Formats: sequence, structure tokens, C-alpha cells
Amino acid sequence: LVRSRGLGDVYKRQILYAEQSNEPAGDFAINILIVEDEEDVASRIANGVRQSGFVYEHAYTGDDAILMGQDNAYDAIILDLGLPGKSGLEVLKAWRAAGLTTPVLILTARNSWTEKVEGLNLGADDYLTKPFHTPELVARLNALVRRAAGHSDPLLTYDNLILDPARSRVSLDGTDLDLTAFEFRLLKYFMTRQGHVVSQSELVEHLYSLEGMRESNTVEVYISRLRRQIGADKIKTIRGLGYRFG
Ligand code: CA
Repeated sequence: LVRSRGLGDVYKRQILYAEQSNEPAGDFAINILIVEDEEDVASRIANGVRQSGFVYEHAYTGDDAILMGQDNAYDAIILDLGLPGKSGLEVLKAWRAAGLTTPVLILTARNSWTEKVEGLNLGADDYLTKPFHTPELVARLNALVRRAAGHSDPLLTYDNLILDPARSRVSLDGTDLDLTAFEFRLLKYFMTRQGHVVSQSELVEHLYSLEGMRESNTVEVYISRLRRQIGADKIKTIRGLGYRFG
């Protein structure tokens, strides 16, 4: 496969084509690499991907995956981290070291948030915990391809905390948090300014227009609520100056 045009164009053509026909999209199809050693999981993914009008190729082992990822221009890759032989994390590391920028969605084992964080730090673009629902996987795949086509909205991470702006979701140790819309925006603002001191007036100014609130003591209340949920030490009070996340 030789990519001779921008991904954005490919994606637009794919959408146009899908609206006109149920047939496979031929030259303009989104091409996905599925890396998964378990046959039943792989075929479930393959069915979901095919129903979305995507085409796919399948790798069972880490070694095959490394080669296929480097030799073909996939639009996105689904990578199971639990592979025999070379692990998914090693595969991802090899791809990124070789300069491969294809969006990668990793599949992680349940209760393994360290794997998720490691994967994201190694350059994964999204993750899904097993067991997962195929429609969710396909939806995320669509979002990944869309983002790669120029509508980027990357995940924000800090330690064991992951914020997903595109899906308005926050997880701590791999468990989703139930934040209010305001708490979410407050956290997002902090996470985009990691390590910087944010004054109370800056927060009020930024958040006021969104919520119709301007009392700085109200901000304090929200910050203490947020601290209870994400861990108090993540937002430090800098006396006389404001707050610092991270
Ligand atoms: Ca596996």
C-alpha cells in the first residue's frame, strides 16, 4: 500500500462512499490492522470493523505486527497488549521508535491501569479495557481516524489520572469518575496547565462565562470536591498565588 494522499481526504471519500453504497469502499477504504492472538476476540473485532465498511488485516503475534505495521500504511491499529512472545507494549515501542505515527488503540486487561498508562506514555492514542463491546471499539476507531484526519483532541494524562476531552470522561486507576460538567471543565483546565500556578481570578475568569458563577469562594468549593475525587495531593494550594496541578 502506498499512501498518495492525505488521510483527511481518504476519510472524507470514505464517508461519501459509505453514504452512497453498502459495497466495500475499494481504494478509499479505511484500512485497519488488528493485532490479537485470541481467535474469537479477533473475529469479533473483524466483524465490527467490516460492518463499518473498513477493511482489515490481522496479525497474531508481536513479531508479525511489528513488520506489518511498518510495511503497510494503515489508517489505525488495534493492538492487544497481552500477546505471546513480544508483548503489545514492546510492539508499540518498536513502532514509535521506527517513527510510525499511525493511531493505535490498545486493548488492556481488566484492572491493569499501569499497562494503560504505560501504553499511553509509549504513544498509544486510545485504550479499551477487556471485555469490551464491539460497537464501542468501532466508535473509538472512527474517532481515532477522524482525529488523525485533523480534528485532534488528545487525551490528557497525569499519573493514574486520564482525561478524555472527546468523550468527556475521566478515569482514575482505570475506573471512571462521576464528575459534574463543571468539575470536568475545572479539571481539564488544570490538566492543560500542569505544573503552572493558576490564580484564583484566572480560574474564575475562565469558568465564569461557562457556568454563570463568579464567586471565588465557590471555586474553592469545587476544587475541594475535585480533590476528594482525584486525590488531594494533585491540586496544591500555592499560598497567596493560587493553585498548581501536578
Ligand atoms: Ca491476548
